[in-house]
Amino acid sequence: MIEISEVTIDRILNPTSIDLGEYVINPYMGCEYSCMYCYVKSNKAVYKKKKPWGMYVNVRMNAPALLEKEIEMKRPKTVLLGSTTECFQPAEHTYHITKQIIEILHNNNVSYVILTRSPYILEYIPLLKQGFCSKIYFTTNNFNNDLKQLLEPKSPSFAARNHAIIKLLEEGLTVIPYFSPVIPWITNLKGAFSSFTKAKCVEFEFLNFNLKDIHEIIHNILQIDPSLKRSFDVLLYDKDFYRQIWRNIEMETETLATLWKKDFKIYKHDFGKFFENSYSQ
Ligand code: SF4
Repeated sequence: MIEISEVTIDRILNPTSIDLGEYVINPYMGCEYSCMYCYVKSNKAVYKKKKPWGMYVNVRMNAPALLEKEIEMKRPKTVLLGSTTECFQPAEHTYHITKQIIEILHNNNVSYVILTRSPYILEYIPLLKQGFCSKIYFTTNNFNNDLKQLLEPKSPSFAARNHAIIKLLEEGLTVIPYFSPVIPWITNLKGAFSSFTKAKCVEFEFLNFNLKDIHEIIHNILQIDPSLKRSFDVLLYDKDFYRQIWRNIEMETETLATLWKKDFKIYKHDFGKFFENSYSQ
């Protein structure tokens, strides 16, 4: 049972080094979707909660009022919504904190980028079309339902997400289909390009082998395909093999992007380097 708490916070506009905005805004703390590979689980604030990730959501009730005040002081031009939570998760259906935040951003001419994997965003299309939503990174994937049940059982289905991406693109919004995590021998890269004809760019994030739950993640992948055991064992401990496998996936992505005439970008996690991303495009 998810614990939903109504809380107040001291600050809503937080400076960031992520190059998608000057500040990040997270209307909620916690996330009902509880993806096994979620990087937010490693945050200090999450450790301090001492509750399992995915089992609580703090609704930041005073976020809209705070935002009005902080915009006056900080005068942001660009912000990123949803760096450590899902802004359109089920709590949003009740509380509409994200909606109020977007309205305030519009009223103050602040442009924003959204990170999401929730089709509930479709409810806000008229708002998003008012001109300040600069980009939506919409996370999706295409592994089979049995694996999805093991890795992210509570997130929306890939079919619903893909439908939402197509709908948002048809509405003229800038949407980046974001395939994450790309899993070697599992993710179908061809499908990544063929599904979104209207998207100019498709982005990919490789599975981060430095996540603290990586052994559990691999255990679940092997439940679906035990024949991959030897390959994953070597991937975990052999730096050269690790780099070669990802290089092969990079080359395949490049070939497919050329074929489909799409831009692409790949976020990689090098062997043994937690959170040190690099990217190619
Ligand atoms: S939807 Fe995003 S924030 Fe929520 S658990 Fe999944 S990866 Fe983490």
